[in-house]
Amino acid sequence: MQNWNIETKCVQSGYRPGNGEPREVPIYQSTTFKYATSADMGKLFDLEAEGYFYTRLQNPTNDLVAAKITAMEGGTAGMLTSSGQAASFFAVFNIATQGDHVVACSTIYGGTFNLFNVTMRKMGIDFTFVSPDATEEELNAAFKPNTKAVFGETIANPALTVFDFEKFAKAAHEHGVPLIIDNTFATPVNCRPFEWGADIVTHSTTKYMDGHGTAVGGAIVDSGNFDWMAHAEKFPGLTTPDESYHGITYAERFGQGGAFITKATAQLMRDFGAIQSPQNAFYLNLGLESLHTRMRQHCANGLALAEFLKSSPKVESVNYPSLPGDPYYERAMKYLPNGSCGVVSFCIKGGRDAAEEFMSKLKIFAIETHVADARSCCLHPASSTHRQLTEQELIDCGISGNQIRMSCGLENTEDLIRDVEQALG
Ligand SMILES: *Cc1c(COP(=O)(O)O)cnc(C)c1O
Repeated sequence: MQNWNIETKCVQSGYRPGNGEPREVPIYQSTTFKYATSADMGKLFDLEAEGYFYTRLQNPTNDLVAAKITAMEGGTAGMLTSSGQAASFFAVFNIATQGDHVVACSTIYGGTFNLFNVTMRKMGIDFTFVSPDATEEELNAAFKPNTKAVFGETIANPALTVFDFEKFAKAAHEHGVPLIIDNTFATPVNCRPFEWGADIVTHSTTKYMDGHGTAVGGAIVDSGNFDWMAHAEKFPGLTTPDESYHGITYAERFGQGGAFITKATAQLMRDFGAIQSPQNAFYLNLGLESLHTRMRQHCANGLALAEFLKSSPKVESVNYPSLPGDPYYERAMKYLPNGSCGVVSFCIKGGRDAAEEFMSKLKIFAIETHVADARSCCLHPASSTHRQLTEQELIDCGISGNQIRMSCGLENTEDLIRDVEQALG
């Protein structure tokens, strides 16, 4: 299985039925699981045996789909969560708690920024946000003795900056902490962060992975590359006994490849219950089976739209990492040589009014708070997701009143361009 290319993994990894078993991933629509003796079940509660007892912690359908995503990313263990937000929270909270500190890239998704900067701060975790283009010195200066992780996004939503894996991975590892990457926009079809030094990957599977706008979900995958025991004093949750499991030490019992996900399941999923429903995991698996073919069309449409917009006299500027001349083009060619994503953002001439008029004229692109599904959609951040911000705050976070975010779906390329052309007028 290890030697399969990504396309084959999308279709075949995870569920491998035996003789006479269902061809399609079965939906284990069951909250609970039956045992012959209390002793059998006791072993599960002590983490001495593997198995299922309650779907708040684990479900077989979810684990089969998580195994596929783990194979696609090239990791050792993975889990599904109820949303991308839950995945980001678990990935960080599994190793950083009250009194700890995390370095994060400033262009991360707004929902993640809020989770870190507001909610997790209330839990006593401190964050320093650094520019995606920080120099090595600026980056190193962000670390503190209590830093436990570095967090970034392969392609930032909606800033469309490309993460400098080598620089951030080097800094993280020199400071003895793992690099956690949200790989939602690139997907493992276009980038596998473990190949560039990342240690943990998270996903909002709600986006391209599901790909049809049907199921909110998330995933976490461990590369198995981070040596927790070598930095044992920094990560006591993994390297010292867990009293809520009769003194098990995760890094010893489950090894470097299994400790992180086992702890996140046994403690965080047990206590927070942010499990994905098995029905949603089934939908997610259907999406994964065509992810490799869909990403090609999303990227082809994204590039064609970016090129068209760049050539239009009605357009002030375009952001698309795979477009020659984009500030992140070099990095995209290095880390995303096969394409980036289907999301393009641009600034229209004529200000906010022109932006709103353009959007009202679109026939195929629908106005939605969503990206990355089969149907093309668009959003005017200044009047929706960033509506509460003042003009100055908009400028500070790099959004202007005339900026529009377009998410190219799977429709015919020429039809999409024609739609945008007629709306530009
Ligand atoms: C949407 C998104 C999230 C949050 O995921 P949900 O599934 O909506 O909770 C996290 N990161 C990125 C990059 C996203 O686009």
